[in-house]
Amino acid sequence: MDVHELQAAILHGTSLHKRRAMAKAITLLESTRADHRAQADALLTALLPHTGKAFRLGISGVPGVGKSTFIEALGLYLIGQGHRVAVLAIDPSSSVSGGSILGDKTRMEKLSVHEMAYIRPSPSSGTLGGVAEKTREAMLVCEAAGYDVVIVETVGVGQSETAVAGMTDMFVLLQLPNAGDDLQAIKKGVMELADLVVINKADLDPKAATRAQAQITSSLRLLGLHGNPEHAHHDDTLWHPKVIQISALLGQGVDTFWAEVSAFRRLQTANGRLAARRQQQALAWMWERIDAGLKQAFRQHPQVRRLLPAMEADVAQGRVPASAAARLLLAAQFGKAPETIE
Ligand code: GDP
Repeated sequence: MDVHELQAAILHGTSLHKRRAMAKAITLLESTRADHRAQADALLTALLPHTGKAFRLGISGVPGVGKSTFIEALGLYLIGQGHRVAVLAIDPSSSVSGGSILGDKTRMEKLSVHEMAYIRPSPSSGTLGGVAEKTREAMLVCEAAGYDVVIVETVGVGQSETAVAGMTDMFVLLQLPNAGDDLQAIKKGVMELADLVVINKADLDPKAATRAQAQITSSLRLLGLHGNPEHAHHDDTLWHPKVIQISALLGQGVDTFWAEVSAFRRLQTANGRLAARRQQQALAWMWERIDAGLKQAFRQHPQVRRLLPAMEADVAQGRVPASAAARLLLAAQFGKAPETIE
């Protein structure tokens, strides 16, 4: 299929046709070949006017918290309500292990074969920035294909949570009902990213779940007071992060969850924050890619390549100040005198 055929199938194909074309398109944009990159850019540009209508939901939590169980239950619930659901993943460990959080075929058994769902595992190679970029682009492909809820899943380790929060409309943190977990999330700064905290496995120990709910609720209130003065007084036009309990295994609380998501979406649409968040994300994405592109061009510049090994050694050994070395290398790339570089 060429770019035009892919575009037509993604926009207008039957369910099966669409899903095949989406898989091909996403493979194309994950490719590092220069000719594929050019085709992928052409395809994304053509699809762009058809994107942006989906709700983008980020879901994170440590391995074993119940992400796949929950996403399967949620996905099937949403399909029952007439939605089309796409699930993408960012797994920072997949480039190391070669596996991925969605690679395991036993995960989301029913959702993965449903014709109203599309599930794609994490890109399995590249830096986190590169993987995040591919996932953002895959999200646009899903939206153009008419999927109106796009879920981006990530494991609760490392920087991937920031990446997911930075590409979604709402960021949800899944937690276990035992105390102490929430402290970890607060320490890592992940709690600040959460628009909604979901305590899963409430069926195992309802008392612990209720305790955790109270604890995390007060932690969030404190975070709000310290971190964000807007949260200091209750303002009905702003969203205040909430904590709910569910049992993904028993399918309990999925409807409550979706009611909260819908309330968030309504409020953020009315107060203009949804659009503002997307604008900020698009600009941040552009600058991130510019930074990455400049760095790559810098490293490939013949003069820089020639000077870099000795410069790195000099800086590491304390023979040359880091700032002077940076100026010299930048000057080499731009063909300028070092003192003209800020
Ligand atoms: P993930 O690694 O976060 O994707 O977690 P999984 O969805 O694979 O779940 C890990 C384990 O927890 C599985 O054995 C699930 O059956 C179990 N599990 C998930 N949700 C619940 C729940 O709400 N209650 C109970 N009791 N077990 C659950």
